Amino acid sequence: MSAARKPSSQSSPGGSGKSSPLHRLGLRSDWDIALHLPLRYEDETRLTPLHALRDGADVTVDAVVTEAQVQGRSPRRQLLVRLRDADSPQQTLTLRLFHFYPNQIKSLQPGVRLRVHGQVRQGLFGWEMVHPSWKTVDAHDPLPTTLTPVYPTTAGLPQSYLRKAVTGALARLDARDNVPQEERARHHLPDLVASLRTLHAPPPSAWASLEAGEHPAQRRLKFDELLAQQLAQQQARVQRLRWKAPALSGSGGDEALPQRLRAALPFVLTPAQERCVAEIAADLTQTAPMHRLLQGDVGSGKTVVAALAAAQAIAAGWQCAIMAPTEILAAQHARKLADWLEPLGVGVAWLSGSQSKKEREAALQRVASGQAQLVLGTHAVIQAQVRFARLGLAIVDEQHRFGVAQRLALRDSLRAGTQDTGLQPHLLMMSATPIPRTLAMALFGDLDVSTIDTLPPGRTPVRTTVLSAERRDDLIARIGALIAQGRQAYWVCPLVEESETLDLQNAVATHAELSAALAALPRAAQQPPLRVGLLHGRMKAAEKRAAMQAFSAGDIGLLVATTVIEVGVDVPNASLMVIEHAERFGLSQLHQLRGRVGRGAAQSDCVLLFTPPLSPTARERLAAMRELSDGFALAQKDLELRGPGELLGLRQSGVPGLRYADLAQDADLLEAARDTAQRLLQNAPDAARQHVALWLGEGFDWLSA
Ligand code: ADP
Ligand code: MG
Repeated sequence: MSAARKPSSQSSPGGSGKSSPLHRLGLRSDWDIALHLPLRYEDETRLTPLHALRDGADVTVDAVVTEAQVQGRSPRRQLLVRLRDADSPQQTLTLRLFHFYPNQIKSLQPGVRLRVHGQVRQGLFGWEMVHPSWKTVDAHDPLPTTLTPVYPTTAGLPQSYLRKAVTGALARLDARDNVPQEERARHHLPDLVASLRTLHAPPPSAWASLEAGEHPAQRRLKFDELLAQQLAQQQARVQRLRWKAPALSGSGGDEALPQRLRAALPFVLTPAQERCVAEIAADLTQTAPMHRLLQGDVGSGKTVVAALAAAQAIAAGWQCAIMAPTEILAAQHARKLADWLEPLGVGVAWLSGSQSKKEREAALQRVASGQAQLVLGTHAVIQAQVRFARLGLAIVDEQHRFGVAQRLALRDSLRAGTQDTGLQPHLLMMSATPIPRTLAMALFGDLDVSTIDTLPPGRTPVRTTVLSAERRDDLIARIGALIAQGRQAYWVCPLVEESETLDLQNAVATHAELSAALAALPRAAQQPPLRVGLLHGRMKAAEKRAAMQAFSAGDIGLLVATTVIEVGVDVPNASLMVIEHAERFGLSQLHQLRGRVGRGAAQSDCVLLFTPPLSPTARERLAAMRELSDGFALAQKDLELRGPGELLGLRQSGVPGLRYADLAQDADLLEAARDTAQRLLQNAPDAARQHVALWLGEGFDWLSA
């Protein structure tokens, strides 16, 4: 994640002193400058005669001034320069320049030869170029043999200045390559400094592959960026393995607890669940702290896997803490896990931000004394006052929902909260947003991953319909009929927060409207009234809990909610999910919401209501939802449509993405970098360290979140 930091090095600054305009671009060292890659290129290696011009083409022209005059008044003043070339007596080209100096006008005497580059347009009086780049030349001036780089820059820092700075920096670069020859050969990558030289001055033949981002020199840079990340992550892993954790195997508690839990479950685990349980169980018996991500699509049954891990910790005489990002989800976990484990004699404590001081103090006391073996709650669980007697395992549900900062706080407080034992607890993270493998590797390279890749049996896939909001009334009538049959439904509205400005359906208004509409539907006299519940983020925690409980118990037929229900809510009887303004949601969010239904045996439906007209991407998203039910396929699609930041909730935490590599496009390079990182750490630790220092800075501390 920190790869977005500016690469830096000890080499001497390329600019001239502190006031260098390059500093405004954050360019301090020669490496910084060398890594300031062109945004695009211009091809000035070929001349086009005026008679061969085509409308809209980007061309370089050598021609002679016939006339130059200033027209109009400031601020609309422009300098018009008329040109002709010897090969095309019938054609003229007019340049329109908006920024010019008096002495430039003077230099543009008839007969002076100019070389201009820009986009040509067919104007009223012949060919025109608006604000091209130009310079005076004489007839023998050679053309460049390489493409002309165009750099990202800021006001007052001309391209010519940057080009000169780059040339200087490249000449001074240390030619040593941190990536050994055999690694480069293995992955077909060119030398680093040669790649940089190419990228700043490529041959014209490279044009197409550069445009496509597939030129070997580009791939080398992307590779190096990814390599730095992979090295840092693998290094962090090595460090972590030096910490000690309690080996959670048998003796100390109630050894038979996991077996008794299994026996009490109303179902048998799927093979995929069994595999994950085994992977986790093996980690827990080690004295190195586990650092594992359990991922599985919504409804794949992660909770029971977590419960068995908890049981293993408790059986060994240690405590387990489970935290969830929202109070609703935490409460639901608490209920489910308490239902499973309390009857088996496990002491449970609940911690949340909304509980009373007295309740909280009592809970804290039970945590500190070790009486509570299972501690459940929101992030209140990791706050500073919480002292564990013997924390052996921490489980974080929906870990991607926690910001990076919170994940770090978690690690710190886990260490602090268990100081007395001097041991680091094992850490299990769970995610229902299936992270494509490429992304998981890039961002959580320091994590082991277990995946539940099949759903429990007996599920019928959710049928997804995309429906125009014009047919809302039909839909409401159908919902009325469904509820009358004893089925339950969710109706999700986009956010309340900005409803006034964004003209979104406000959950409160929708609740009132749907209540009225359903009440007005004809129904048999003996039937009870249809109850409509409401759940949104601004309600008090207790109100939310009450609404969820009423829905779980079947007292409410239709639950109107904002996306607060997105995560983890589990009411198997609910079989219809309506998402209003579905076009405003991202794919992974839609998938999470859809995952709230299809949890029982009944055929479930998801209706995506949209308000036309649809943008092309929105159309593509809704089509993907209709066609794909697999979370991984959808996550991959999401990555393609939106880029990785949003998928991982990084946007809010302000962690920028990679500078050069594109995870959707460069998966193969990520694999290559991972592979090389392993060997480099073993065989060439010095080169590895230098590479990380070059890209991530000397004082780099890998924030393994
Ligand atoms: P998620 O992975 O989304 O957290 P849950 O753990 O909430 O999924 O499980 C979804 C539902 O499936 C729950 O009702 C759970 O009890 C049930 N379930 C889990 N595993 C199995 C299984 N092996 N067989 C049948 N039902 C299962
Ligand atoms: Mg869950």
